[in-house]
Amino acid sequence: MIIDLISDTVTRPSKGMLAAMMQAKVGDDVFKMDPTVNELQEKAATMFGMEAALFFPSGTMANQTAIKLHTQPGDKLICDKYAHVYNYEGGGAAFNSGVTCKLIDGNRGMFTAKQLEEAVAGRADIHVPYSSLVCVENTTNKGGGACWDFTELEKLQKIAQNNNLAFHLDGARLFNALVAKNETPQQYGQLFDTISICLSKGLGAPIGSILLGTEEHIAKALRVRKLLGGAMRQGGFLAAAGIYALNNHVVRLSEDHKRAQEIGKVLASVSYVTKLEVIETNIVIFYVDEKIGATNFIEKMKCKNILLTPMGEGRIRIVTHLDYTSEMHEILLQELMNFKH
Ligand SMILES: *Cc1c(COP(=O)(O)O)cnc(C)c1O
Repeated sequence: MIIDLISDTVTRPSKGMLAAMMQAKVGDDVFKMDPTVNELQEKAATMFGMEAALFFPSGTMANQTAIKLHTQPGDKLICDKYAHVYNYEGGGAAFNSGVTCKLIDGNRGMFTAKQLEEAVAGRADIHVPYSSLVCVENTTNKGGGACWDFTELEKLQKIAQNNNLAFHLDGARLFNALVAKNETPQQYGQLFDTISICLSKGLGAPIGSILLGTEEHIAKALRVRKLLGGAMRQGGFLAAAGIYALNNHVVRLSEDHKRAQEIGKVLASVSYVTKLEVIETNIVIFYVDEKIGATNFIEKMKCKNILLTPMGEGRIRIVTHLDYTSEMHEILLQELMNFKH
């Protein structure tokens, strides 16, 4: 048995999800004739109280489309130094939209209203790239699944509005934040111009993300998705997995969070762990004794069929998810407790 804790993207469709996929009614979505894709898009828009939604093959493409909608070449987008749009989308902001990123030196992928004020100051100067977009991420990926304080987001929205900046949420793991903080999708729908959500992270669909926004945004996004090569035909088979995920796999995210806490408890009690970051959702980040070393630790765990990820700078990541069973959980806790160096 392999205990794969590399990411919450490693899940495979469950029996129920596969059955839903097999039964999906499909059509050609490029002609907007796939009833299941349409249903998923309407469901998501309603859920967030937003005007419209568009199904994408990946979260990267959904984010990149949002950046394209809100910027002109030569502009800058403002985000945290840990942001996925900056670190993990292959330089797409520059490649697709010709924008630079102004990085804020935040905490665990989150920044304050004051830091945003400072970042937008001076924008009238001709030397400075024009600011057109603020991107935030909830939960933060590189920040270890941290959740924003909603009141801080409200402050950011005001600043964005006062400075004519679009406000985009990279919500690849937004449902983890909603469950952890007891918040609603509508709260976020009211605050942001566009939101991307992922169906294939904690929610367990094999493929798919959704971009939400106004009718006007989504009409433009349709064209951008086409030119990026992301228009799909009988996408309903995939959309059916997304509908199933939204109906069945949101509430249970608290299970992943509980297990992450239990893993944290063990890591906090063993002498070889030198630092453990705050655990808020399904991501656990820790550091091991320099004498062991992160690479070596990951290698040793791999020999026991336990797969973990290095996050750079000696950080090691564990991500709990839908396919991580209680049996695997017991084995992992034992192995962590008994690890000998
Ligand atoms: C995973 C992720 C994405 C998009 O990932 P894809 O692999 O392109 O679907 C975007 N933002 C964040 C924060 C993520 O964690």
